[in-house]
Amino acid sequence: MSIQERESKVLFRVYPRSPVSFVSGEGSWLVAEDGTRYLDCLSGISVVSVGHANPRVAEAIARQASTLVHVSNFFCTEPMVELAERLVGLSGLDRVFFANDGATANEAAIKLARKWGQTKRGPECFEVVSLVDSFHGRTLATLAATGQPAKQAVFQPLPSGFSQVPVGDLDALRNAVSSKTAAVLVETVQAEGGVRPVSAEYLQAVRQLCDEREVLMIVDDVQCGMGRTGSWFSWEPLGFEPDVATMAKALANGLPIGAALAKEKVADVFKPGDHGTTFGGGPVVCAAALAVLDEFEEREILKNVEARSNQFKALLSEIEGVTEVRGRGLLLGVGLEDARAVEIARNALTNHLIVNPVRPDTVRFAPPLTISGEEVDEAVRRFSDSI
Ligand code: PLP
Repeated sequence: MSIQERESKVLFRVYPRSPVSFVSGEGSWLVAEDGTRYLDCLSGISVVSVGHANPRVAEAIARQASTLVHVSNFFCTEPMVELAERLVGLSGLDRVFFANDGATANEAAIKLARKWGQTKRGPECFEVVSLVDSFHGRTLATLAATGQPAKQAVFQPLPSGFSQVPVGDLDALRNAVSSKTAAVLVETVQAEGGVRPVSAEYLQAVRQLCDEREVLMIVDDVQCGMGRTGSWFSWEPLGFEPDVATMAKALANGLPIGAALAKEKVADVFKPGDHGTTFGGGPVVCAAALAVLDEFEEREILKNVEARSNQFKALLSEIEGVTEVRGRGLLLGVGLEDARAVEIARNALTNHLIVNPVRPDTVRFAPPLTISGEEVDEAVRRFSDSI
């Protein structure tokens, strides 16, 4: 029996799985059961940023796994504290809560915003305003914050206190933010929403409105952060700073981790017992994340992101049938003349290239940030053949 047949008997049917299964990886490449090598331009959905089977990360995991794996958050461990110190140093935010993935990082941020609102502005202040077409996770609260009604429909009633406004519509935001609003939650590029960059001008105006109305600004940097869009944190080149930010995905290059970061004045409202998790901040994932940060710094990966992004944009936009290449850094959405993204991604798989049909008319490229110039050329050749 194939892996696919075995899977279909025992796992929940929530994922439309690919017909290909992988057994190993190296850098930008994945190796299938039959030994065929696939060029990975998805990196496990913006996760494996320093490449598959990265030796430094593998060594850090192995070393930590044979030293100490878990103690619970009743105790602190060196990797957790060191990782928090480094994230604080890089982000300009003051404190970190470690979660287990993007959704639980956002849950932590939402709970923090609720406690902050109720503490600073009274019991009615708990609402979160987010954006249409956003994606913040699949737990009930993060799903309520997600601006995609189709994903919410069968799970009603969702927690109350969430609303969405269209991206770029400042009047709608001004009307939605009231004395009940604790936070505005945004992505800088709506990745799952079709790789749609949110403009710096709009984000700066959101910041200004949040300041005027004494509302927190939360950036969900789960997908855009950790160098994916060209800077450590995606807001850095955009001329504003959030009060709270979340990250996950690429932080430990494939081990599950999430983090909520906040300014001191906000983090301060969380007291012992207010929030917690069994696994968050465990020594193995934190050791992996520290190795990822070292890899970024020593290999100057952010420079590679810029160069490869420009190369991808130039080459992809020359392909017939491509209407635009949007996005930032190595989070790119290739707009197509027709709604053929699913078919083209399937063709790409046949050509041993992994890309993702993020919208019916958009293919997403999110390769490892270590991808080489030759690999970009090869990826574009295979993609062009797939169209
Ligand atoms: N936030 C954003 C912006 C995301 O892109 C995602 C996942 O794609 C999430 C949150 C949820 O993260 P996770 O799947 O790790 O829970």
